[in-house]
Amino acid sequence: MTGRLDIIGIGPGDEALITPDVRAVLAQATDAVGYIPYVERVAGPGLRLHPSDNRVELDRARQALQMALQGQRVAVVSSGDPGVFAMASAVFEALEGWPEAQQVEIAVHPGITAMLAASAALGAPLGHDFCCINLSDNLKPWALIEMRLRLAAEADFAMAFYNPRSASRPEGFTRALEVLMASQCGERLISFARNVSRPDQTLLTLPLKDARPEMADMRTLVILGNSATRRVGDWVYSPRFA
Ligand code: SAH
Repeated sequence: MTGRLDIIGIGPGDEALITPDVRAVLAQATDAVGYIPYVERVAGPGLRLHPSDNRVELDRARQALQMALQGQRVAVVSSGDPGVFAMASAVFEALEGWPEAQQVEIAVHPGITAMLAASAALGAPLGHDFCCINLSDNLKPWALIEMRLRLAAEADFAMAFYNPRSASRPEGFTRALEVLMASQCGERLISFARNVSRPDQTLLTLPLKDARPEMADMRTLVILGNSATRRVGDWVYSPRFA
């Protein structure tokens, strides 16, 4: 008997931001697979936890598919949305090279991604055209990140940055700020939204030219406005035109 595999996103942190659909999956699941802190968040009676370290996404996806093939009801857990720099793509990568696993019934369940929780906390900085860039160069060359930053700046997109600055690659974000400064973004507003929707949430907005690399870490979602993004009272928003 083949089980099933549900790929879920548990939102940015606040329990209230877990969708009813994802709660229903967790109530039915026998096994939860994912990065340690996320799996810990879904712990409950009757759910076997299979926590793993970061950066082993493909192994984790294979393990989940294997358990589903053996008849278990497996939830693969990501933070935020599972399709945004997270486990859904890893599961499909594993599936591509493993025809037998393609008989497993799979469903992807959306979650509230950090970018949307951050923009809501700030106001509406993504109220007009925007793009979203993962600043980690673990899985792509840094030159590609720089090209995307330059072209997005030229096109006057607002930008949301995930994985902005880790302890193992602190220089990347410094370089990203330099590229954006050189692309005439110095006057644009940049927001640092840290631990969004958690009790220790902090928000900081300032012109890019005054931003410092240390303002971001791996718990921060960074949003750079477009050239029209502005403040109204404590809020930051992008107007619906231009
Ligand atoms: N799938 C996740 C993103 C995983 S990448 C999602 O859809 O949200 C991990 C990055 O997401 C972090 O480095 C950070 O940039 C961002 N992030 C996740 N949760 C966050 C939170 N509560 N507050 C701020 N940023 C967060």
